[in-house]
Amino acid sequence: MNEFISEEVSVVRCTSYEECRAAIDESLRLIGGIERFIKKGDRVLIKPNLVSKKKPYSAITTNPDFLHAVICAVEEAGGRVIIAESPGGPYNRGILKSLYDVCGITEAVKGTNAELNFDTSFTEVEYPDGRTVKRLPIIDPVLNADVIISLPKLKTHAMTGYTGAVKNLFGVIPGTYKAELHFRLDERESFCSMLVDLCSCVRPTLSIMDGIIGMEGDGPTSGKDRYIGVVMASANPYSLDMAACDIIGYAPEEIATVKESCRRGLTADKPEQLNIVGVPLDEVRIPDFLKPESHFNLLKLINLPSALNSWLTNALASRPVIDHKQCVSCGECARCCPPKAISMETGVPVIDRGQCIRCFCCQELCPRSAVKIKRPLANRLMINLLK
Ligand code: SF4
Ligand code: SF4
Repeated sequence: MNEFISEEVSVVRCTSYEECRAAIDESLRLIGGIERFIKKGDRVLIKPNLVSKKKPYSAITTNPDFLHAVICAVEEAGGRVIIAESPGGPYNRGILKSLYDVCGITEAVKGTNAELNFDTSFTEVEYPDGRTVKRLPIIDPVLNADVIISLPKLKTHAMTGYTGAVKNLFGVIPGTYKAELHFRLDERESFCSMLVDLCSCVRPTLSIMDGIIGMEGDGPTSGKDRYIGVVMASANPYSLDMAACDIIGYAPEEIATVKESCRRGLTADKPEQLNIVGVPLDEVRIPDFLKPESHFNLLKLINLPSALNSWLTNALASRPVIDHKQCVSCGECARCCPPKAISMETGVPVIDRGQCIRCFCCQELCPRSAVKIKRPLANRLMINLLK
């Protein structure tokens, strides 16, 4: 196994955010200590998970106490911190200001010297080694940093099944370019292969996962909070994801980013081969962690010729449905929909099923959690029959 694959993944128990600083320190100590990653004077970019404007302490975005603790650890090691994120939808100074305010990030940096990024410039980066994309627009603060620390949350995700260290880096793509990538890469496999390209291009120095309270069910924004009680850290984001998936009951082949990382030799082939330090994975595993409605892979249960398989996949796939009781007709879903499959012409959102690419951006970005993921009746009946 090469050195990168054998990088340790630390797993530390942590029962509450009040004690997260000690758990973060321990998770870093187990993989060589923060000094291994940060030199005095380094410009350290911290990339939290601020998927959209959501109230803090809701398990949707990086917990402010967790972020504050990481900033303090980095500053004590001599690093100069800048926090940067490009959420879904438009990317401008006003959006960033309200994102930081609503998500508790403005508050989290108080008492530290950390800077919040308001620079919305970006650069098209050539990435000839990319398997799916060879050019990527990346926000400039990421490119100007000496050290990049990714702070993913342990959550499910309607499109990719799970969002973690690799997927967290999608937030270094500026604003609406994200929709463009969804539109171009409308299959889960190609989209996730792009995410692995992006992560390999950005090369985060370190990933520290907030797995204290995660999200199960219809993540990344409409699921339920679930206590997991762990902090994890690694210099290898692909291995960190494999370990986190194992904790919440996903096999590597069920999550396209993990499967692709294995295929490219960026991590071990299976969780048992990971270099876990701290608490063993089987001591923190949560076998009944709820998966997203969109995830249940009916076709895993049936062996069909590929043409029929692909037709069935389409016909039986989970889809977004608007809950009109919760919808406030803000139009955000229509604005963020990559193929413009949602119309607001009648004053309420209407989805054109023929155009929908099932990226679930509408579910992710709806401020009222009014977009639900539903499996068609035939899908539910067949699953019950085949179970
Ligand atoms: S984003 Fe949500 S609340 Fe706004 S129009 Fe769409 S479904 Fe309704
Ligand atoms: S309707 Fe929703 S799931 Fe379908 S393409 Fe638009 S944003 Fe994606």
